[in-house]
Amino acid sequence: MARSTARTATRPLADYQAKRDFGKTAEPSGIGANKVKPSEHLRFVIQKHDATRLHYDLRLELGDVFKSWAVTRGPSLDPTEKRLAVEVEDHPLEYGDFEGTIPEGEYGGGTVMIWDRGFWAPETDKSPAQSLRDGELKFVLAGAKLKGSYVLVRLKRRGSEKRDNWLLIKHKDEYATPGRDTVQNKDRSVASGRTMNQIAKGQGDAAMPFMTSGKPVAATAVWDSNAITRTRKATAARRNAEQPSTSATLPKLTHPDRVLWPGDDPVTKQDLAAYLVAVAPWMIQHLYGRPCSFVRAPDGIEGEHFFQRHPMPGQPTSLAAISVDREHQPYVQIDDAQTLVAMAQFSVLEFHPWNSAPHQPHVPGRLIFDLDPAPDVPFDAVIEAAKEMKTLLEKIGLVPFCKTTGGKGLHVVTPLVPDDNITWDQAKLFAQTAAAYLADKDPTRYLTNMSKKKRTGRIFIDYLRNDATATAVAPLSPRARPGATISMPLTWAQVKKGLDPQRYTIRTAPALIAKSPAWRNYDKSAKPLRKAIAALIGTAS
Ligand code: ATP
Ligand code: MN
Repeated sequence: MARSTARTATRPLADYQAKRDFGKTAEPSGIGANKVKPSEHLRFVIQKHDATRLHYDLRLELGDVFKSWAVTRGPSLDPTEKRLAVEVEDHPLEYGDFEGTIPEGEYGGGTVMIWDRGFWAPETDKSPAQSLRDGELKFVLAGAKLKGSYVLVRLKRRGSEKRDNWLLIKHKDEYATPGRDTVQNKDRSVASGRTMNQIAKGQGDAAMPFMTSGKPVAATAVWDSNAITRTRKATAARRNAEQPSTSATLPKLTHPDRVLWPGDDPVTKQDLAAYLVAVAPWMIQHLYGRPCSFVRAPDGIEGEHFFQRHPMPGQPTSLAAISVDREHQPYVQIDDAQTLVAMAQFSVLEFHPWNSAPHQPHVPGRLIFDLDPAPDVPFDAVIEAAKEMKTLLEKIGLVPFCKTTGGKGLHVVTPLVPDDNITWDQAKLFAQTAAAYLADKDPTRYLTNMSKKKRTGRIFIDYLRNDATATAVAPLSPRARPGATISMPLTWAQVKKGLDPQRYTIRTAPALIAKSPAWRNYDKSAKPLRKAIAALIGTAS
């Protein structure tokens, strides 16, 4: 295991190739025709290696190579076991199919068994490459022997150490076997069924390939890409059940006295931070686990506004960068109260999260009907519209909530039980149908068409917030508008003639929300959209 770290490599696999004489060893060179099969999921392999000292090599596919660690005592299923994993040079993906003996005297001389293999997936919101750079990678394995959730944690380098040492630890889950660690008794190759001794003697069947094209994979080598999709769902459900931390303290601010909302009662950056500290326990519930866009106004609401969706240099490292799919660059996501408060330093005046379920960006988590009155429409008409929307949603089994926007209209919001068989297309169609139902009944008051021209005298029921990547301003978010208004959660009793959204401001809202019962049963009120779709079809026909 006298290997140096991959960090010194100038090109991929340079370290790997420099160490080996491919005229003498049968290991793949990683040069030339790339025979590696494409795979929908990332692959992993663990090779038991009887070198100078017996160890297990953990390899995780990332990019075009295997990130590799030599796990001296091998992986464990016991969460109390912390196994030293020494980072070694990147290996070519073809290496995953190597089983045999490296000649004595050559680098890593000794017998190699394909001890386990299958698929892996990162469990972080960051990219796995970033997680590795940051020194902590949570991931799930779906292999023949190893399954479930693990973490690799990098240790601080000490003095003369040239290589990075990591710990490989099993997370507590249904695959963990606390206090008992018998996985290494499963001692045959998953690729050939052979023992170490048989491989050393060149007896028995050759290993069935997994990484490279070749004969079909043997049924004895058990792996299942569905296992990843299983495990992933379990992970999403578990993270869903996790609650974000809700308490925060005032952060250090530069220019705390800078006025962001000028006027008779100027509101400063310090006031903004203090406001966010006060409302974080409520607000974070509607932000965590969801990509969030910001409206930033470094010179206050009368200066330039920036709409930010993606990570920016210099922002808090606790601000998660979340990769939603291959097409889009990562979005930002606030997962805890302190990060929410930290955004005051960056003059974030408005918070606009997706309406997805926490940690499931593709799954609808709530529906929102944005009631946008034309300028000539009295606010009382918006109140009536919200109540009519409430009646309709209740009729089809949903539980609606109402909030001011801090602006001209009202938002009617209804929480959904996350269901990853429901797409945003279905949710949007549902919202459109519900909006059209009201507009068709009363076309003189409502419309569902975006056109501003046609809006005169009417309220636009904007259902387009209900889509992947679409946002709506978060409950309790301040607005970059005169008066330092905020989006205030209301009880339905408050949604009546005389309601004045201008009353709810950075100054007034903390005391009001602390004693208001509004939205307190929000989480418990989530309903499955599937049932509501059926009910709406019944209502509309
Ligand atoms: P109001 O009651 O004054 O209409 P609002 O928050 O509903 O306040 P809208 O202009 O109706 O404001 O916008 C609805 C939502 O659309 C916003 O809350 C925001 O999340 C999103 N949105 C608005 N402008 C933009 C923009 N420029 N880019 C991306 N999303 C936007
Ligand atoms: Mn609106």
